[in-house]
Amino acid sequence: MRSMTLNMTSSPKSMPHFKADPDSSAVFGHGFADVIDNWSWDETIRQVERATDDDVRRVLAKAVRNVKPLTPDEFAILISDAADTRLEDMARLSQTFTRERFGKTVSLYIPMYVSNACTNKCVYCGFNHDNPFGRTTLSMAQVEAECQAIRRLGPFENLLIVAGEYPSLCGIDYLEKVLHTVRPYFHNLTIEVQPMRAADYWRLTHSGLNGVVCFQETYHREAYRRYHPRGMKSHFDWRLNGFDRMGEAGVHKIGMGALLGLEDWRGDAVMLARHLRWLQQRYWKSRYSVNLPRMRPSESGFQPVSIISDRELAKLTFAFRIFDHDVDISYSTREAPFFRDNIMTLGVTSMSAGSQTEPGGYCSTPEALEQFEVSDNRSPAEVEAAIRSRGYDPVWKDWDSIFD
Ligand code: SF4
Repeated sequence: MRSMTLNMTSSPKSMPHFKADPDSSAVFGHGFADVIDNWSWDETIRQVERATDDDVRRVLAKAVRNVKPLTPDEFAILISDAADTRLEDMARLSQTFTRERFGKTVSLYIPMYVSNACTNKCVYCGFNHDNPFGRTTLSMAQVEAECQAIRRLGPFENLLIVAGEYPSLCGIDYLEKVLHTVRPYFHNLTIEVQPMRAADYWRLTHSGLNGVVCFQETYHREAYRRYHPRGMKSHFDWRLNGFDRMGEAGVHKIGMGALLGLEDWRGDAVMLARHLRWLQQRYWKSRYSVNLPRMRPSESGFQPVSIISDRELAKLTFAFRIFDHDVDISYSTREAPFFRDNIMTLGVTSMSAGSQTEPGGYCSTPEALEQFEVSDNRSPAEVEAAIRSRGYDPVWKDWDSIFD
């Protein structure tokens, strides 16, 4: 009887050793940061600018043959000015590949901001440490109230938990409690918080975590330093290698992205494509998503350095789909309804709806600080209706917690 009890309560699988975690010989661990400097930023931009109509024709012909995936160098050709005259061809191809993999569906998710406290000083963000606003970190009772308020908005099962980077307030213990609190309400849990050690990701995946989203913001090493002058986020390599740590920890879905507008968007897009391939070749058990947010006005007053037009963002979306048929392409409510409604059938596979970007926003905690202004203020039901009106199905649930 005694030995039976011991068997039934045997401890969970012990934590593996993670190569990507920092150790005494490598302050920020190992990963893509070790190789990114093999590519010159300026040469990457020139590579895009050199592309000709013939190059675009050749790459699209290869994409149509669909025998081998495109390379990041070929992706660079598809986002060039030379590709502008082939935008309709690209849209059709993007739509075809998307329907083959995802059907006529758009997956819906909703963010829950649990804290706007942040030790970083990103010059473009309303949560910037120097911004003299009161900060809010939700208690578990408030998190639970937010869950109930979200469930009243719509049948969401995909929840994105967002926090500023303040490890002493929102560290792994806090996040673990949040995961346990929200788990009864949602099947698919993703976090967008500070980069962590692989061991911490591993621990959270054993507490119900399904996915992690992290934005590198920009892949331009020097510009990154200017935009992130203080806090843990000022360490470019630590952030960049965070994706390798997610992969090593076995995070099911890894979300990547650059904040389009910080630097020349073409450079960040090509680097993002290279980064995606790097991760896919090493952590092939994980699924990936790319997020293509454009800079929006915020309390910081920061104005975008590089403007990406609607047409360019559409071209970039098509290019990503043609480059990778399986990657989830996600659009948030930063984009306006008109643009979201038109792009949703041409390559995008997931969207947020009904978003509040301040902690407690669904329960109307008064005057909490917003991270950025939302452009699409429609209710989830209105977004659902827009999806259906285009002959597509909204997907509220595409994962069950029983798979965890
Ligand atoms: S972008 Fe993120 S890390 Fe930077 S100040 Fe805003 S919340 Fe903090």
